[in-house]
Amino acid sequence: MTNLVEAISAKLTDDKARVAIDAGERVWTAGAFDADIRAAAGALKRLGVKKGDRVAAQVEKSVEAAALFFGTLRVGAAFLPLNSAYQKAEIGYFLGDAEPTVFVCDPKDHAVLAPVAAAAGVQHVRTLDSDGRGTWHDEIEAADPYDPIETMGANDLAGILYTSGTTGRSKGAMATHGNLLSNARTLVDSWGFRPDDVLLHALPTFHIHGLFVALNTSLLNGSTILWLPKFDPDAVLERLPEATVFMGVPTYYTRLLSDPRFTREATRHMRLFVSGSAPLLVDTFEAFERRTGQRILERYGMTEAGMICSNPLAGPRRAGTVGKPLPGIELRIGDGEGGVRKPGEVGVIEVRGPNVFAGYWRMPEKTAAEFRADGFFITGDMGTIDAEDGYVSVVGRAKDLIICGGLNVYPKEIEDVIDAMDGVQETAVIGLPHPDFGEAVAAVVKPRPGAALDGAAIAASLKGEMANFKVPKRIWIVDDLPRNAMGKVQKNVLRDQYKDTFQ
Ligand code: AMP
Repeated sequence: MTNLVEAISAKLTDDKARVAIDAGERVWTAGAFDADIRAAAGALKRLGVKKGDRVAAQVEKSVEAAALFFGTLRVGAAFLPLNSAYQKAEIGYFLGDAEPTVFVCDPKDHAVLAPVAAAAGVQHVRTLDSDGRGTWHDEIEAADPYDPIETMGANDLAGILYTSGTTGRSKGAMATHGNLLSNARTLVDSWGFRPDDVLLHALPTFHIHGLFVALNTSLLNGSTILWLPKFDPDAVLERLPEATVFMGVPTYYTRLLSDPRFTREATRHMRLFVSGSAPLLVDTFEAFERRTGQRILERYGMTEAGMICSNPLAGPRRAGTVGKPLPGIELRIGDGEGGVRKPGEVGVIEVRGPNVFAGYWRMPEKTAAEFRADGFFITGDMGTIDAEDGYVSVVGRAKDLIICGGLNVYPKEIEDVIDAMDGVQETAVIGLPHPDFGEAVAAVVKPRPGAALDGAAIAASLKGEMANFKVPKRIWIVDDLPRNAMGKVQKNVLRDQYKDTFQ
């Protein structure tokens, strides 16, 4: 079987009466969730969506949105989840680039986004709110459920996930059915999922962590999912007693640790805490173990390659490392020029395996540039493999990616916007250590000769233009930016200079 939704649907129809998703006030049995997926597929069919098309959604997290994802796969189309923080201009770019047949947005954004979608050539715009209401719901009511599942091969497209681009433009990473199904199966196995596991799902579903890692593994395993609309320590603590598995970004763990109710007693029954999407500080790992007696399992992955490495389920989980490559995945440390570094040396992490994506949507040159001739994908992360035990550590990001609360921010995108403002000569955007977000975005701006700039005014004008998490939390106006002999701005010097700003 190579079709992700076929595998998940088979599990859902196995035992229709079991609880598949428990969202508190509303509960879906496996049969009910499967029926919602068929209903979503029926509505898409009625709108003319066919194999090879795309369906985009920028909606709040909801079980109906999850059903839309699997319904999209059922009819053979690819799903395009969009971060709910993205603003009008960003949405316009994604819709124009991916050309989806259907775009589902939040009812509150409809007035603004419907013309954007129309300009991008999208045929159908529907709405869906966090409670499952909206014109998408009407569409489902009007359509018959669609029971067949389109035949999809391992190389057929299941999703397009946009990553920020270092050259200013986002790239759509194409995930295939083979990528998603193989990765979900590997995780079910490696993380020892049991039939009676219950996952507490607090992650957003516009990102691979919440959408693929958390949802696909649990549904493929036939686990119950306790569904939270977002991460909120109160809600997590309330539902934790019913869960056995929790997945989070490091920020979630630091927040839970700052709550005195998060104790050894409160977590005693838990089988597994997983962390990823950003580096987990050794400090957090150790504080977590002191508090709960449990060691967080840290894993490493990315949009383009799904999950790549994981600390072991049984065996030493080492703080500051991401464990070993998952079964079936090859990883090497490249020297940046096609060669390979010795164990213990730092270089660029390169990976190959069924998890590696099919390339960037409509960007063959960019795709070609990110692969070695022998099929290894150049991740852009810097890392090292321990000479003795083979554990991998991710030491930094080659392209100065900033990870703010688990979300990627590429400095160049923000620098370009600030550089285009009146009176600005040049900008350097950097990530600085932040106790809550892991890293926070900050900017250092050099004015044009004679121009007077105001950091707060720059930040204010960025707010409507880009997602809030990308807007610098501090902006310094300086006479000059530090440069090396080659004229390049030395961001490491800036990071050092301002490193204590948020601590
Ligand atoms: P995304 O595509 O949003 O999942 O972001 C992927 C990037 O997050 C990777 O390329 C890494 O730079 C970073 N990342 C993910 N997991 C880890 C981890 N456990 N430790 C360090 N960096 C990580």
